[in-house]
Amino acid sequence: FWTEALDRLQLLLSRPTFEAWIKTAIVEELTEERLILRTPNPFARKWLQKYYIKTLTEVVQEILERPIEIQMTVACDDEGNPVDSDFFWALPMEPNLADLTSPLEVPTVTVSPEPTDRPRSSDLNSKYVFSRLVVGSNNRMAHAASLAVAESPGREFNPLFLCGGVGLGKTHLMQAIGHCRLEICRNSRVFYVSTEQFTNDLITAIRRDSMQSFREHYRAADVLLVDDIQFIEGKEYTQEEFFHTFNTLHEAGKQVVLASDRPPNQIPRLQERLCSRFSMGLIADIQSPDLETRMAILQKKAEYENMRLPRDVIEYIASSYTSNIRELEGALIRAVAYISISGLPMTVANISPVLNPPVEQVEASPSEVLTIIAENFNVPIEELKGHSRRREVSTARQIGMYLMRHHTGLSLPKIGEVFGGKDHTTVMYSCDKIAQLKEADTSVAQTLRQLSDRINQASQSRN
Ligand code: ADP
Ligand code: MG
Repeated sequence: FWTEALDRLQLLLSRPTFEAWIKTAIVEELTEERLILRTPNPFARKWLQKYYIKTLTEVVQEILERPIEIQMTVACDDEGNPVDSDFFWALPMEPNLADLTSPLEVPTVTVSPEPTDRPRSSDLNSKYVFSRLVVGSNNRMAHAASLAVAESPGREFNPLFLCGGVGLGKTHLMQAIGHCRLEICRNSRVFYVSTEQFTNDLITAIRRDSMQSFREHYRAADVLLVDDIQFIEGKEYTQEEFFHTFNTLHEAGKQVVLASDRPPNQIPRLQERLCSRFSMGLIADIQSPDLETRMAILQKKAEYENMRLPRDVIEYIASSYTSNIRELEGALIRAVAYISISGLPMTVANISPVLNPPVEQVEASPSEVLTIIAENFNVPIEELKGHSRRREVSTARQIGMYLMRHHTGLSLPKIGEVFGGKDHTTVMYSCDKIAQLKEADTSVAQTLRQLSDRINQASQSRN
């Protein structure tokens, strides 16, 4: 069955991905409900678990027609060392491995028990310090304000509201404030918390009838850092409680720092009074970094990892990823991992197959895809969602599923739902089938390309 799984995975994944991560895995054990795969090294295991476990599971379950849990082990020699340990240690990427912690190894997120006095500083990521942050024109003001806040909290910029798109360094900056504050004043009570965590603590406190200690806990902060505050939208009770926490701290001259992917006045369903409090200090925004800054970020990252990268490689990666620093770093990690596995020299030509820069493409909505398919094949949307097996209808439906897979971020089961509650295996079968047709028949390939163009046009004009 593994051969069949490999065949299907090869269709679903890019070639370098398949070669590097999937082909190197070996079936160690297969039972009624479990499949154990042996990977050549810990890095491959983490990688598979982080990025490909879902696809792997879907494919295996479909072939075996039963639910299967996939586990990974690492090949070991007699002394218990990874067989491929040279490879593993050759990767000078220790800190990045922390990023790749597999879901299986992360303790399931538990709501913290009674809010305690345990120092929240332990929640800070040790990498997120000022010295590792590159300052460019995109974040100069946010950086300066953050430094000022760390040096003299509760003074000028209170609250400091950091806002900017995904992966632009809000969390990094915010935690850098925490680290820096603790360096200056070791006893400072620095609390870093996500909005989700705050909400969970609150729910636990209500459930356990321990609101008193919840309040005491949060109101004892000297510096309260609350991340992703946009998630407070619409949560009336959390907003109410946070309002009081905020006021207590603010009146006592304690520092509050908030991070959000958009400014306060663009957070929907945010109480007016919170919106005005969030705006009364400084709102500092972070923009996308320019090419020079992106190159400096890669350079710095490489220095920390003791890697030497040719300048043209840095430039190439930096110009392929423009708007998200997390993706930029991810590309660097992929490139280094691939070079390390393949043993090829680090050149632009050698890394380009694993980079696949994100196409600057706007995600289509499911309804856009449906509409275009319905128009093109002259089949009403209800029939696409229905169960008709008429040839024109089922072909249109299969093409619709295939295109939805490529143009939206929807998972297979979700695509099944859009098409009137079809099973995810049906969706997968359709996608495979169309992919095969596309390979075999140039007129199919052409039709798909035209439909793709139309979907892109529709979604781009919407934006
Ligand atoms: P956000 O919270 O805005 O989504 P993060 O703070 O998580 O973004 O940053 C994403 C990644 O990019 C992190 O690994 C962070 O260290 C890195 N990063 C962001 N900005 C910079 C920068 N100016 N210099 C160096 N690394 C950065
Ligand atoms: Mg963040």
